[in-house]
Amino acid sequence: MEGCLFCGIVAGDVESDVVHATERTIAFRDVDPQAPTHVLVVPRDHYASAAALAAGDPQASAELVTTAAAVAAAEGHDDYRLVFNTGAGAGQTVFHTHLHLLAGRSMTWPPG
Ligand code: AMP
Repeated sequence: MEGCLFCGIVAGDVESDVVHATERTIAFRDVDPQAPTHVLVVPRDHYASAAALAAGDPQASAELVTTAAAVAAAEGHDDYRLVFNTGAGAGQTVFHTHLHLLAGRSMTWPPG
């Protein structure tokens, strides 16, 4: 989608540190990491939210989770947190859905 940062990363027009790629997803390191491992997993196709992706491409939706698990395992983490921020009020700033993988430190609940 025109003007979408993560579409630019998927297309290779915007530089990123890609750690894993599958047919339907790309995983790259967050530029402002909130944990020792902080990776974003995005569908190659543009969907604004996790729910829109699940409705429009259930296989890609599942692949976000399996990709995140593969990255966590590759980085040696048994314990990790997966987060979809949905809507500005919940902290979403990039409206190309993305699954945050956070690992490598202890986590508290609830998140802020
Ligand atoms: P959210 O606030 O849930 O929409 O998450 C957006 C995430 O994208 C934030 O954690 C940002 O640090 C991250 N981010 C923004 N620009 C880039 C970029 N060019 N490459 C990697 N991560 C980015």
